[in-house]
Amino acid sequence: MVSQRQNPLAARYAQLIMRIRHAEQQAGRSAGSVQLLAVSKTVAAERLRYAALLGQQAFGENYLQEAVSKQASLSELDLQWHFIGPLQSNKSRAVAEKFNWLHTLDRLKLAQRLSAQRPEQMPPLNICLQVNISGEQSKSGLLPSELSQLAANIAELPGLQLRGLMALPAPCDNFDEQRRIFASVRKLYQQLVDEGHPLDTLSMGMSADLEAAVAEGATIVRIGSALFGARDHNPDNL
Ligand SMILES: *Cc1c(COP(=O)(O)O)cnc(C)c1O
Repeated sequence: MVSQRQNPLAARYAQLIMRIRHAEQQAGRSAGSVQLLAVSKTVAAERLRYAALLGQQAFGENYLQEAVSKQASLSELDLQWHFIGPLQSNKSRAVAEKFNWLHTLDRLKLAQRLSAQRPEQMPPLNICLQVNISGEQSKSGLLPSELSQLAANIAELPGLQLRGLMALPAPCDNFDEQRRIFASVRKLYQQLVDEGHPLDTLSMGMSADLEAAVAEGATIVRIGSALFGARDHNPDNL
């Protein structure tokens, strides 16, 4: 194995795993109950390959073309791909055919397309409904009042498996405030469970707020910069 001293990604990976384990412990949760989703937007395929060598299997991508090109470069690896960006209906086919998860579902028409486009030999596409909880800057995501109906509709679609909720709150550096928002997501999740949906996933928490998310029941944390370093937002640098 490559020594951590020689490689900053290896060192950050080890640190991040420890940070997640610590958050689980602080929250009284069992070790390994929180899954790390490595958010690899703008990160070159070779660095994903290296993360995979370190043991990381699940990767989250925001931009379809970029994701599909990396999937082709890494096709010999056994990776799990999560689409976590906004998805236009006319681009649904690539997600239906090439991903294991979609975290940002927010409308029925898109759900119907994805279900119809999901190849029959593949297991259903795992779905999180994105909920707009904190009046965030992005207008994406469902209002809490819209969740129940869409969840009921999705339960009828054979190509999709509803797993839970995803939230992307506006950045906030106050721990209690972060927790308050994640708690409201957890409450909406519990309402859907009470309505009979067999859910197991709360996708919430990023580099700056994963501790608060884990304290409120996150099962997937989506981590980019704390693992791969700051993004420079230059798409030519892929
Ligand atoms: C970029 C991104 C992340 C990761 O953000 P970091 O702050 O870099 O950890 C998580 N979720 C979504 C939806 C993102 O777009």
